[in-house]
Amino acid sequence: MLIFERSHPGRRNAAQAPHHAAATSGPSTGLRTSIPAALLRQDRPLLPEASEMDVVRHYTRLSQKNFSIDTHFYPLGSCTMKYNPRACNTLAMLPQFLARHPLAPESTGQGVLACLYDLQEILKDVAGMAGVSLMPMAGAQGEFAGIAMIRAYHDARGDTARTEIIVPDAAHGTNPATAVMCGYTVKEIPTDANGDVDLDALRAATGPQTAGLMLTNPSTLGVFEKRITDIQKIIHDAGGLLYYDGANLNAILGKVKPGDMGFDVIHMNLHKTFSTPHGGGGPGAGAVGVAERLLPFLPLPVVAKLPSTAGGRGAGGEGSNNEAYRYLTEADLPQSIGYLSAFSGNIGILLRAYVYARMLGAEGMHRVAEFATLNANYLMAELQKAGFTVAFPQRRASHEFIISMKPLKDATGISAMDVAKRLLDKGYHPPTTYFPMLVPECLLIEPTETESKETLDGFVAALKEIRDEAHATPELVKGAPHTMPVRRLDDVKAARELDLTWKSNGHGKDVTTN
Ligand SMILES: *Cc1c(COP(=O)(O)O)cnc(C)c1O
Repeated sequence: MLIFERSHPGRRNAAQAPHHAAATSGPSTGLRTSIPAALLRQDRPLLPEASEMDVVRHYTRLSQKNFSIDTHFYPLGSCTMKYNPRACNTLAMLPQFLARHPLAPESTGQGVLACLYDLQEILKDVAGMAGVSLMPMAGAQGEFAGIAMIRAYHDARGDTARTEIIVPDAAHGTNPATAVMCGYTVKEIPTDANGDVDLDALRAATGPQTAGLMLTNPSTLGVFEKRITDIQKIIHDAGGLLYYDGANLNAILGKVKPGDMGFDVIHMNLHKTFSTPHGGGGPGAGAVGVAERLLPFLPLPVVAKLPSTAGGRGAGGEGSNNEAYRYLTEADLPQSIGYLSAFSGNIGILLRAYVYARMLGAEGMHRVAEFATLNANYLMAELQKAGFTVAFPQRRASHEFIISMKPLKDATGISAMDVAKRLLDKGYHPPTTYFPMLVPECLLIEPTETESKETLDGFVAALKEIRDEAHATPELVKGAPHTMPVRRLDDVKAARELDLTWKSNGHGKDVTTN
């Protein structure tokens, strides 16, 4: 049911914001006087008219139809759906942050600039990089910034014959897409039987045409690339640069720095590793870190701490009266790849990441990596004991691992997708299915560090039950989910022909949606 269907002419819910309601109810109130009459709409907009309580019940009910980390175990591989401490949210929502206008002068925003500057410094340390820009608003946009910087670097040296970016076949789809958007040709290289990059294929693919390599380490197969030193040498010797897809940073946080592995540029999904609720497409932050030689190309703006030009503009605190924070612009970084967002990126997400990093400290970050890998390895071992097929049993898992449902499918016809849908009935969000595509009928499972042993044991029990059902009552599994508000959706139709328009017949009742 849509909120429009709860609409009754004349129902109001002005108690939420009485001054606003007053300002918009008549044609000549103060708010409107500065808008030319010709531009004012004559009719009321076709919005639902519902009481406050109707609205609260409607949206609360809707929210309860969703799976979320607050309600369910959510082991969606590569997405790091961990619990986000409420404190991060509370502090990022302080009215002093929320009410600040993005065009307010830097002199009145020294506090928020200090937070952003500190976050840049923390991420520099975490990544082992020389500089960080917080501007990209998603992992994919961070990738774009990173490869654009690699391109700008080669171009600035007059090295324009480099046309290719090498991407392993296990990579997230955004990697090849990014390379293409930056004008490169993608050269795909295979993975060997251990889940590592095939070094012979890498050598064969590398040459004077190589602009760089995009690598995820630990990879989306859930294994840490042990020969990363060899890999970086092959690429650097050929004059290429190394890009680190930092979506899996959770596994190595505080343990290993991508800069120490020889990477030149990295994006970090702050909405994965640094505690922002995400899913359903929003909102994110994909901060980029770079090695020394890419510093001039960082996307703008970057926050700097500089000697104050005007008296009394000091940042305050710790006696730093003659220093001030300010945004660097094109004047400071003339070779920058440019602005990636209006104002300061997704600042609410950045503040959450800042609070999270400060709450954890270096010691807490070590623990994140330790418990994330412990949970993944415990779950992998328990599933293996239960007879499930682990994709790379000879390897220790990083923060995630893959099991294959191929044996179950061969025996019963029940696919990884059927298992995923049946998990919903058992109260678990399914793992990532059919990615990476290298492993048939795969489930990519990432338990994260925030889950307890009981939850992991419950998940193993649910998978065992489903396997039993697959043999005894396969129709039950094939027809799942049975307990959800919707059954199996036509994913392709939903993506290609999505129609969410509501058309009124004038009575606020006529509803068409797909
Ligand atoms: C999530 C993810 C990305 C893309 O990040 P977005 O923030 O979704 O754009 C890239 N690579 C890997 C391995 C990922 O898991």
